[in-house]
Amino acid sequence: MKVVAVTPMQSNSVHLLEMNKPAVSDIPEGRGVLVEVLRVGACGTDREINSGEYGVAPMGFDFLVLGHENFGRVVEVGEDVRELKAGDFVVATVRRPRGSSIYDTIGEQDFTTDNKYYERGISRLHGYMAEFYSESADFLVKIPTAIAEIAVLLEPLSIIEKGLKQASDIQERLKIWHPKTAAVLGTGNVGLLTIMALRMRGYEVHGFGLDKRMGYLNADLIEEIGATYDSTSEITITDSTKKYDEYDLIFECTGYSPIIFDAMQALNENGILILASVTGGGRKTDQVPSDAINQRFVLGNRAMVGTVNANREHFEMGVKDLALCEAMYAGWLSKMLTHKVEGLENFEKVFEILNNSAKYKAIKTYFEVAKI
Ligand code: BGC
Repeated sequence: MKVVAVTPMQSNSVHLLEMNKPAVSDIPEGRGVLVEVLRVGACGTDREINSGEYGVAPMGFDFLVLGHENFGRVVEVGEDVRELKAGDFVVATVRRPRGSSIYDTIGEQDFTTDNKYYERGISRLHGYMAEFYSESADFLVKIPTAIAEIAVLLEPLSIIEKGLKQASDIQERLKIWHPKTAAVLGTGNVGLLTIMALRMRGYEVHGFGLDKRMGYLNADLIEEIGATYDSTSEITITDSTKKYDEYDLIFECTGYSPIIFDAMQALNENGILILASVTGGGRKTDQVPSDAINQRFVLGNRAMVGTVNANREHFEMGVKDLALCEAMYAGWLSKMLTHKVEGLENFEKVFEILNNSAKYKAIKTYFEVAKI
């Protein structure tokens, strides 16, 4: 079968390879599931792995099959799989409990404290840019047919769901917390999904991106689901509170780390700031009013939390939000699927779009590996 792979830590090494088709019997204890890949999304993580910034090959291999945003159809199940059957649609989670930390042992591997983590398509495990994969049923989430068309968005959404779950868990410190307003920093595909997830929870949501409003498709989408859009080239996050008041919740997903200090100054009392950007660079910033920020956090009981990866429960939360969004704003999520590339052999096109997403006005670029 065809797969798309990289040589980790080598810039622009993406290439097509032939591998043996996996089998249900690759997975122990009769829990194997063979899945035909239908769609695989591509994101900044894939771009950065192909740029040689990170990515680790599995033991015994000098290449890594890419792909972690996935959607597929069950072909065959092992004798001890009762929750899935051939023909079911599934999305697989990404991180596996292979580390030595207590969190791996209790199945909370998204909170692993190990430096070496195991993520399909990213670190130490082959990914889903393949025609088939096999996996334990424990890591597969069943997808209702009604959201099959947009289910390739579930993995990126799962990351946001985890962030929001962490926020609500932390906010249990307050006996009463009725958040009303939220700011989402970054309006690429992760930002759009965050705005959607917050709108599904009834928040008044304000999205902030770099682009000017005029002619910006993402801003049209934001307004279609009842949120606002502002360009940070025209208004800072801190200044925006004069217009919208301070935010009960702020979700940062721009990839531009200096903005977090702005966000810290725009947070309401008792509010929470969620950081979700993986910023691997060496950027530094000064001009931070540190006394004022510290004072605000202390005197206002504000909180800030980092979040990465997602576990099964967050994928399951995501399924519900996708279904609710389809019910409330039918067709909205499909508009995010701007760039479809048919066939894994056309991987160069996918990376051309990923590397120039502004030029292509791409929100989500994905492979159609096989027809739904
Ligand atoms: C993936 C996560 C992963 C993170 C760090 C993200 O793109 O969605 O599952 O934990 O990258 O590797």
